[in-house]
Amino acid sequence: MAPTLSEARMAGRALQARRLRIWTQSPTCAACGRLTSYPAGFELDHRVPLHQGGPDTDENCQVLCNGADGCHGKKTAQDLGHRPKRGA
Ligand SMILES: [Zn+2]
Repeated sequence: MAPTLSEARMAGRALQARRLRIWTQSPTCAACGRLTSYPAGFELDHRVPLHQGGPDTDENCQVLCNGADGCHGKKTAQDLGHRPKRGA
């Protein structure tokens, strides 16, 4: 089979390997600094969202805490256009 666009999406196993790799390098939430647990306590987040042209690379990924009040959900909302503020 010839390569197709669908191959640009990482297969589940490769994505799991990336999650472990990035979490091992930096297991704390990039937004709030909370130590996250593997595998369910965090989500990988793209620093520059893919829909804004960010590369799908390890370097563009960071750990965000997950859960009811986790930073991942908050940042996802920001990426979609709500409240662009950062820091402060
Ligand atoms: Zn957090």
